Amino acid sequence: MSKVTAQQRQQQVLFAVMSVYRFLIAERDLPSLLQGICDRLVGQGLNLSAWMVLLDDDHGGIITAETGLGEVFTPVMDNLRQGVLPACGLRALDQQGGAARFCPGTACENCSLPRCRGVGQAITVPIRCRQNLFGFLVIQTPEGGQVTDEELGLVADLAESIGQALHNLLRMEESRVREKELQRIEERFELALHASDAGLWDWNIKTGEMFTSPCRKGFLDYRENGGAPGSAAWEGLIHPDDKARVLQVLNDHLAGKTEEYRIEYRIKKENGAWRWFLDCGRVVERDEQGMPVRMTGTHQDITLQKEQAEILVRVQRQLHDAVERERTFLQTVIDGAADSVMVIDMDYTVLLINATAARIMKIDSSEARGRKCHKLFHGSDVPCTDKRYPCPIQAVQESGNRVTLIHNPLHGNNINNTFEIEVTPLRDGTGRIRGIIEVARDITDRLRIEKELRESQSKLYQLAHHDILTGLPNRLLFRDRMKQAVAKAQRHKSRVAILFLDLDKFKDINDTLGHDVGDQLLVEVARRLQRQCRKSDTVARFGGDEFVFILDEIKDRNGAAVVAEKILKAMSEPVRVGCHTLHITTSIGIALYPDHSEDMDQVMKYADMALYQAKAEGRNNYRFYDPAMRAPSCSERQDAD
Ligand code: GH3
Ligand code: MG
Repeated sequence: MSKVTAQQRQQQVLFAVMSVYRFLIAERDLPSLLQGICDRLVGQGLNLSAWMVLLDDDHGGIITAETGLGEVFTPVMDNLRQGVLPACGLRALDQQGGAARFCPGTACENCSLPRCRGVGQAITVPIRCRQNLFGFLVIQTPEGGQVTDEELGLVADLAESIGQALHNLLRMEESRVREKELQRIEERFELALHASDAGLWDWNIKTGEMFTSPCRKGFLDYRENGGAPGSAAWEGLIHPDDKARVLQVLNDHLAGKTEEYRIEYRIKKENGAWRWFLDCGRVVERDEQGMPVRMTGTHQDITLQKEQAEILVRVQRQLHDAVERERTFLQTVIDGAADSVMVIDMDYTVLLINATAARIMKIDSSEARGRKCHKLFHGSDVPCTDKRYPCPIQAVQESGNRVTLIHNPLHGNNINNTFEIEVTPLRDGTGRIRGIIEVARDITDRLRIEKELRESQSKLYQLAHHDILTGLPNRLLFRDRMKQAVAKAQRHKSRVAILFLDLDKFKDINDTLGHDVGDQLLVEVARRLQRQCRKSDTVARFGGDEFVFILDEIKDRNGAAVVAEKILKAMSEPVRVGCHTLHITTSIGIALYPDHSEDMDQVMKYADMALYQAKAEGRNNYRFYDPAMRAPSCSERQDAD
């Protein structure tokens, strides 16, 4: 490089500085600005290099631009980019608050910067912004030339202007960011207003000026045309039914009684139609006397919402009415049932109860609805656990099907009747059990009637099969017992003995002492005869003074003879009837199955023939049938009598 004179250099410095100044005014992009400055300070061989360092807030991250440093400076630039300042004049500058200084390119003890060939001196100047250190500008001058104080001063002034330019640039950047942010906020606000169908208004009460957001001019038009809140024009548009309420709310707010106001009212539109508006506003500025100066608010056409709300209310009312009608119908239907009917939720809540159930429980059906059944019927806070009367809900839950339960008493509250409860699961559309339908029928009367029927049936049976006077089995029952005895004898290969009894001269007692005494004697005779029987034997009265014994499982005729003798002995005891002491005897005829015949009618006949024989032979004795015996003729019988 050819040597330049001090004068030439000074001229070059002036040109470069002027060029930087012009550039500062024109450039708006920060990186381009920094780079442009460095380029202009190195151009035309004026300096070997120029580089700029900008510190961030905590002097950490550094933005740099450089021209002419060459590769030897790469590590230094890398360090700078990571916020590490070299241990040289730069750091000293930083530490001492940043006064411009020379940094002798060869004689600086602490300088760790690499040496470039041909470097003469270095000028380090701070770049400030409002007293704060903003960064540095370092210029390396070529060898040989001497930097004058004037040049140093020029560079220092330039650095100050650079600081100012950077400051302006950053301020412009900030305000651009703020503007953008504001724009975004405004857009969002407009969007919100648009989405909410609301319009914005801003009213200067003093000047009467009214601003309305443009997107909602359509329904804020009346406001712009003198329809400010409180104005006569505005009042004239309000629906007469709403006016008093609206004015009250507004006046309260203007008087400072409320923070803000929010009113819904109807406004007449130009076409004469009423529209609903939601008017929200607040005084945002008052004068020294507290009088409102400015108000802002939103105005929203809510006619559609109102109409929808009205439709909703109408539909809800119709639904409610329909449900109520259904419920009333259902209630009427179940009230018509003679049985108690209840519908209960699976969580024990009574959903429906009919008049019969309410009457039995002594409760009001409307007050029962919605209450827990265990609380309502037992006064208990928990479901019933009495095993004797299983809970219908639990019973259905366990079985999953219809169940029938008997409860007595039904609900433990002094109801002593017996109830048959049919419990049917109430399922929803998916088949899940939602509750139960409980139909309880009072079966107390039915049970009583059934019992009475059973008793009278047994009485009838008794009457049909027994002798009224003595209570002994009659002919009918006798025949039944006889069949059983024969069947048993056939099974066991044993015998049945038939003992035919007829009291001796009984007619005389009737004739002498009367029929009543005769009856009482017959009763006592029956009692005594019964005592001679084993449990399996039967003694029946055939009518008059005739009795018949069935002795089953007799081993031989001797067994029957023993019984006959016992009977004769029992009869020999005198019988007291009232004041009379009576003596009675009996005659007995005996026949054996199957010895004498396998036909029981025949056996009966043979026993009768044997009886006749016993009578004929003097009475008070017994005779076994003998095939030699023959049935007496009627006249013979009469003779025997
Ligand atoms: P015999 O020794 O021959 O049997 O003589 P008898 O007097 O007992 O005569 P018989 O057995 O033929 O008559 C029975 C009588 O019993 C006839 C009737 O008047 C009487 N009698 C029949 N049924 C009843 C009754 O229910 N109550 C009473 N007190 N007497 C009856
Ligand atoms: Mg007799």
